[in-house]
Amino acid sequence: MTIDSEEGVEVEVSAPEQPTRPAPIVLDRERHCISRNLIPDNILKVLYRLLRSGFKAYLCGGSVRDLLMSRTPKDFDIATDAHPMQVRRLFRNSRIIGRRFRLAHVVFQEGVVEVATFRREPGVRDDGELLVTDDNTFGTPEQDARRRDFTINALFYNIADFSIIDYAGGLADLESRLIRVIGDPDIRFREDPVRMMRAIEFASRLDFEIEAATWDAIIAHRDEILKASPARVSEEILELLRRGWSLDAFELMVETRLLESLIPGLYGSLVSGEAEYFWRMLEVLDRTIQSGRQFSDGVFWAVLMLPGFFKSLDQEELSRGERLRPGDAFGLVRDVVAPVAARLVFPSGVRHHVEQSLEALWRLQEAPADRKSQWRLVFREHFGDALALFELYSLSSGRSVEMFREWQSFARRVQRQEEPMPSPRSPRRRRRRRKA
Ligand code: ATP
Ligand code: MG
Repeated sequence: MTIDSEEGVEVEVSAPEQPTRPAPIVLDRERHCISRNLIPDNILKVLYRLLRSGFKAYLCGGSVRDLLMSRTPKDFDIATDAHPMQVRRLFRNSRIIGRRFRLAHVVFQEGVVEVATFRREPGVRDDGELLVTDDNTFGTPEQDARRRDFTINALFYNIADFSIIDYAGGLADLESRLIRVIGDPDIRFREDPVRMMRAIEFASRLDFEIEAATWDAIIAHRDEILKASPARVSEEILELLRRGWSLDAFELMVETRLLESLIPGLYGSLVSGEAEYFWRMLEVLDRTIQSGRQFSDGVFWAVLMLPGFFKSLDQEELSRGERLRPGDAFGLVRDVVAPVAARLVFPSGVRHHVEQSLEALWRLQEAPADRKSQWRLVFREHFGDALALFELYSLSSGRSVEMFREWQSFARRVQRQEEPMPSPRSPRRRRRRRKA
């Protein structure tokens, strides 16, 4: 079918790309809520220039999903049948990026607009290995929709006639609030195990259910998460925490046991019920983040290690019958951080940051011997992170609340320069040389 767009360009909108597949569902402008007013000018500019140059120009991915749900999209991605070099030629302010996916970036003062050429899923390799390593084969719009992860992420908004094009059943799933993998979830999760985490992320963030076959496949393939790039997995974990939707996501990770594969120590503490405060801590963290406060990645990782840390600390102190010495406490911190750092391949800087924050937190648990040591701690690296951790921990566990408050007000006084600096050690007297 072809229709006339506002600009008088004839554009094909709903012809099926492959005869065996049913035609996509196309929602005309009157039947959905996406208005051009909701799309930033730069994005419209790029869409229209592609269209006027004879190419297809679709808004795709999370932006269409979010606009249909009346949410504000994080970013607006564009898909087209123009090849990256053609996009490059159309926009002087563009560059081609990426080795794995060849994309064009159109650079505006307000930010970068990503324009991707329709791609298809590469075939299965000869050795039967499914992990996708090269995702750079160009394809049709339908193939591009089908290589995407979930049905709700595969919707297109066609600038030619302002219609929504749905090749994968995303509209129905948006309506039923379901996260459903496109295609066979057993295959799609093996191709890219990070999709399991994305399913959980979208379910918690949008408050959707995970569809049954998708859910079962996460349970079946949870261990394969360790085959994915540790950097991507770490980013996914951090995103849950950074964006303030960690509570539901961690509950789902426990239910599917994905967390057992990722951070077994934390999983163990949570299923045994010995760290109930952890759930309250995530709740407080999510709420605090949603109200605009930020935390460093070191704090986020340390939060995930707190149950393991306090468990070992309690055990150790109980068996010794006294508080640990600093050196021993640091050894304990390292023992708790090491397995997670190894599994998720932390860069050494991240590992150091987490270790330092946890150790500083341990030091804050005790009343300082004197004002000098109190000062020393406040100026220690990652003191702010340790204090933030202490706050989250004491508020959610009810432990050491008084101690936290004391440290908090002391740190504030130091910050406002209301706290006199302890007098330095009395300087050694220099004998004045007598004038001759
Ligand atoms: P957000 O609002 O967080 O940006 P998003 O849906 O836009 O959500 P992105 O990570 O920005 O997610 O990815 C853009 C689109 O690319 C997705 O909507 C999806 O269609 C596709 N996509 C992203 N990651 C994958 C993946 N691992 N496998 C298949 N498709 C993916
Ligand atoms: Mg996005």
